[in-house]
Amino acid sequence: MRKNIIAGNWKMNKTVPEAVELAKAVVAITKGADADVVVCPTFVCLSAVNDVVKGTHVALGAQDVHWEKSGAFTGKVSCDMLKSVGVKYVILGHSEQRTYFGETNDTVNKKVKAVLAAGLLPIICVGETLAEREGNITEKVVEDHVRGAYKDLSAADAVKTVIAYEPVWAIGTGKVASPEQAQDVHAFIRKLLVKMYDEPTSSVIRIQYGGSMKADNAKELLGKPDIDGGLIGGAALKAEDFNGIVRA
Ligand code: PEP
Repeated sequence: MRKNIIAGNWKMNKTVPEAVELAKAVVAITKGADADVVVCPTFVCLSAVNDVVKGTHVALGAQDVHWEKSGAFTGKVSCDMLKSVGVKYVILGHSEQRTYFGETNDTVNKKVKAVLAAGLLPIICVGETLAEREGNITEKVVEDHVRGAYKDLSAADAVKTVIAYEPVWAIGTGKVASPEQAQDVHAFIRKLLVKMYDEPTSSVIRIQYGGSMKADNAKELLGKPDIDGGLIGGAALKAEDFNGIVRA
């Protein structure tokens, strides 16, 4: 039985004091939740937010990482740096990284391997654009994203990963995928993981849905058999809205 995982991707929002305030509210309001709860602030807020969530039911996540251990990579942070401030999960391959910052399936794969080698847990984002959905190539795009991210990854490592299926056309647009549309792609990913690994491996990998998930649409989405949680953007910026999804 897979436990739902609800992760808040705060993106480039909140100063350090604001992030601390939001983290305190999330810890208080989501107490006793029947799901894994994760908050993912910006790099500069990680340490301060860790002071708030450490020892609570809320885990800390980062929004990206570099695959190298150290060196001349101006502007980047390493897995060891994230670990030193209490990070457990790392979001990788987000569509905003792919669209604006040159993320590719190859760089996602390098990051997935580095994250797992460091004992951290990747949340791997995959998903098609509107043009790709309308061109009937959703499954091909999602398959390329998944196969690319998991290239040369053992089953023992694969079971530690989380996938976030995020149709790009639903991110930040208010246009949520219907529960059936989302379930179809989640089931496709689940079957693909059976082909790439085996049934036991596929059956433990959690697949979150992301894209305009809100308290009022979460219950139906999360009621689908292959939807194991959510990666939440806009609705993660207010503790009450985020909690509405956690409780769903
Ligand atoms: C996201 O960016 O991961 C996301 C799902 O955003 P939103 O919930 O705002 O669509």
